[in-house]
Amino acid sequence: MPHLLDPTRNDLETWLAERGEKSFRARQVRQWILHRRAASFEQMTDLPKTLREALEKDFTLWTTQIARHSQSEDGTEKLLLQLADGGRIECVLLRDGTRRTICISSQVGCAMGCVFCASGLDGVDRNLTAGEIVEQMLRLQQLVEPDLRLSHIVVMGMGEPLANLDRLLPALEVASSEAGLGISPRRITISTVGLPPAIRRLTERGVHYNLAVSLHAPNDELRNRLVPVNKNIGLAAILEEADHYFEASGRRLTFEYVLLAGINDQQEHARQLVNLLGSRLALLNVIPYNPVAGLPYATPSNNASRRFREILEQGGINVQFRERKGDKINAACGQLRRSTPPVVTIAAK
Ligand code: SF4
Repeated sequence: MPHLLDPTRNDLETWLAERGEKSFRARQVRQWILHRRAASFEQMTDLPKTLREALEKDFTLWTTQIARHSQSEDGTEKLLLQLADGGRIECVLLRDGTRRTICISSQVGCAMGCVFCASGLDGVDRNLTAGEIVEQMLRLQQLVEPDLRLSHIVVMGMGEPLANLDRLLPALEVASSEAGLGISPRRITISTVGLPPAIRRLTERGVHYNLAVSLHAPNDELRNRLVPVNKNIGLAAILEEADHYFEASGRRLTFEYVLLAGINDQQEHARQLVNLLGSRLALLNVIPYNPVAGLPYATPSNNASRRFREILEQGGINVQFRERKGDKINAACGQLRRSTPPVVTIAAK
């Protein structure tokens, strides 16, 4: 049965009209789940009983169970959510001063196969629905003090967001609309390994979310090894579409680079990055690797990170080294899912 947040507001209005209900009911119904935290249709007391019964017959209100909730000393909280079909996804709340950023997943697993990532180890099971994407936001919102709101969203968890654009965009519409969670598109970032046709679709849609392209390597030869999907795409095509997105949206591009000891952290790699990105008005986020159990990759030494950073800065790159948050709670994407047994629900007789 579909999630109550799967249909767009227009689709819900159509569903209501087919049952002789006024369109304003769509706003009321959504308010109950987005802001009033209704746990059941029964609680939506300002809706007619017949409508509540019809909703219950056609939709599900909450489809996830919290399989695990971990909290780190730095305030980072991570949820492992079990979906109705048993699939599991991860989402994270990061606290930094007044910022309350959430990182959400877009798919169950991932097909991109980045060799250092736990999420892609078993491939992709399926796309998340729009309702499942929004439900992550609501589950994380519930971890925040009641008088505070989420401030930023990064779609950087499990999965390749641009491979699930048809469900992601309606979910982000709910996140950014005033009747929804009211988070400005300027504070929403979509992270991608770089799928040019999907970047073009984003450009053509005229949405103004931030785009973060995960590079992880400064040349195709190394990137083909670290991000196998690159073999069919290539850096030039990705950068060309990213540049178009920047021109059309005015949103400064971000590039992500996970720094792996002895693999992509050499001085020549930093120099190649300067050549690759030098002329762009962009931010380069360098993230020292969070080790994943069973994978042969390590965090670079402080010295290697410092040298890498110096070369980038001397080359005029606007670079930011991101702190690794939540190390103690398996915060690297995909790790919690692999280390936690599934939730078993015993049905009441
Ligand atoms: S790093 Fe991101 S794109 Fe790459 S396999 Fe992991 S989830 Fe997929």
